[in-house]
Amino acid sequence: MTIARALTVAGSDSGGGAGIQADLKTFQELRVFGMSAITAVTAQNTLGVQGIYPLSAEAVQQQMDAIGQDLGADAVKTGMLFSSEIILGVAEKLQQYKWEKVVVDPVMIAKGGAALLLEESVRALKQTLLPLAYVVTPNLPEAEILADMRIISLEDRKEAAKRLAAYGAKHVVMKGGHDPAGGDEVVDLLYDGRDFYEFRSARKETRHTHGTGCTFAAAITAELAKGRSVLDAVPVAKAFIQAAIEDSLQLGQGHGPTNHWA
Ligand code: PLP
Repeated sequence: MTIARALTVAGSDSGGGAGIQADLKTFQELRVFGMSAITAVTAQNTLGVQGIYPLSAEAVQQQMDAIGQDLGADAVKTGMLFSSEIILGVAEKLQQYKWEKVVVDPVMIAKGGAALLLEESVRALKQTLLPLAYVVTPNLPEAEILADMRIISLEDRKEAAKRLAAYGAKHVVMKGGHDPAGGDEVVDLLYDGRDFYEFRSARKETRHTHGTGCTFAAAITAELAKGRSVLDAVPVAKAFIQAAIEDSLQLGQGHGPTNHWA
């Protein structure tokens, strides 16, 4: 039996809601063989991040070599990368193994405020990783930092998407969940370098959204691994995350983790 393969290069969330754990659960649910290269170990639960222990760039690269030299991957997702050294190391391996279906989730700050990417590493992310991104999936705060502009209107979002595409990202999927003026609707925007597409869904007010960003990007990665186009993958990922948010898990005392079975 053959099966599509996806690799996630990301941080471990001991609480099981985000990071590597969210990615592997998502791959499994979408019937894709999941593999991982861990960039950092976090001590974390629904209340927040208590500790961050990054691995060396060499350790990350060796894990990617282990996949690249044996199992192979149809699509790769990057999440928490933490430092410039890890970003450069990951970029080198993506090129070495000619992994083209690369989904870059530009993880920066956890909902509780912990820095998952050093501030000085934003430049490396923009200049080294965005040119290798088949898809980049910023939320609005991340898009503002990467595009270096305030985003208020839909026109601003389009301008920011164009700026990210100018760095070399082939598709930009800008998530609308953080829009303070969003009203009852969440609008995600896809830009493929030529056209814009809007994906709308009903907004669900909940604090149990820990790991939703990771899960959404992982679902896109899984669908790309199966050979779907970005335009076809985004609605599948949106439906997956919408169900997870609507039926969120009441676990722990804080921000409940994503429900990957929904
Ligand atoms: N921890 C890790 C390892 C992550 O990769 C992420 C995802 O972006 C988070 C935490 C953030 O989780 P959230 O902001 O959804 O609580």
